[in-house]
Amino acid sequence: MLWLLYTTAKCNLRCKYCGGSWPDSIPEKPIYSLDDLENFLNNVDDEPNIVFYGGEPLLNPSFIVEVMDRIEATYGIQTNATLHHLLPPRYWEKFYAVLISVDGPEEFNDSRRGKGTYKKSIELLRKVIDLGIPRPIARMAVDNESDIYRDVSHLLKVGFKYVHWQLSVDWVERWDLIGWATRSYLPGIKKLAEDFLNHYLETGELLGIVPFLGFLKAYKKGWEWVPCGAGKHAYSIITDGSITACPIAPNEKWARAGTIYEAERPKVIPIPHDAPCWRCNYFKYCGGRCLYVLYEKFWGNEGFRDICWVTKKTVDIFFDTVGDYLDEMSSHPEVEVYDPLKDSTEAVP
Ligand code: SF4
Ligand code: SF4
Repeated sequence: MLWLLYTTAKCNLRCKYCGGSWPDSIPEKPIYSLDDLENFLNNVDDEPNIVFYGGEPLLNPSFIVEVMDRIEATYGIQTNATLHHLLPPRYWEKFYAVLISVDGPEEFNDSRRGKGTYKKSIELLRKVIDLGIPRPIARMAVDNESDIYRDVSHLLKVGFKYVHWQLSVDWVERWDLIGWATRSYLPGIKKLAEDFLNHYLETGELLGIVPFLGFLKAYKKGWEWVPCGAGKHAYSIITDGSITACPIAPNEKWARAGTIYEAERPKVIPIPHDAPCWRCNYFKYCGGRCLYVLYEKFWGNEGFRDICWVTKKTVDIFFDTVGDYLDEMSSHPEVEVYDPLKDSTEAVP
């Protein structure tokens, strides 16, 4: 199972689309003992996959060191890279996946995440490449300032083996998603899908565009749950020892699934029975996309429909573009090995 482990409730940045910190609502640092964490994991999971999360997880490097020294697991981290020097290389080299927050070219990235953050992301990328980490992943937040073709192409070019993104539609004020998608995003997806196909035809390899790997994975098997696993295969451990279905819902009642003080698996938080996903032809490829949005519907029903429209169009454009090669591409080892529950990408943007 995937465990997103909060090391801190704070972040040292204030990116445009994210509060970054959870001020006052949860303890700043874990208040449970490592014994409690270890006992809990021993009781409920034979093969834990722990991804350090926050806030910015490297604000609490000693906790990361203690956990990694003590608990046998597959490890990953989602970080803004600014404090990467605080964790010694012998810990970096143990990671399976390092997800680095970065939005695209330097000027664009720094306008959203803060001056100097791009350079730090690239610094950490070089370090994890040198250490031979299997999955160095650029983790982008995408909104109406983004140019998906420019940004993804740039990050692949500078050396990210994998690029993943999330549309910034979960907890920000509603913006003109359909207008931007029609003008910019969907034409960009088309160009990325063409590059993906051409690269495959030229080299036999698949570019590490994570959402496309996700679609290929779903083409074969189909998602039976939200691809991030929230509420069934993936949970977040909050600093107070409580367990929630989704990492961005530390305070939402519906998301509460248990605590590490109970020696049992957290309860399943179901996809809501009235979600349109149950009747949706795209469920196989989308899996409901995001449990948080299905519960919170921050943009209301109309906004939810807009998000679904963009998801469906993205799926259609990808499948139309790679067309005849779907079968062979979906059997590629890259697709076999891709598992959102292992690298903590959510597959569907
Ligand atoms: S496209 Fe929308 S309705 Fe369909 S499965 Fe995805 S989230 Fe659910
Ligand atoms: S995709 Fe949605 S439900 Fe899943 S972890 Fe992200 S915010 Fe939570």
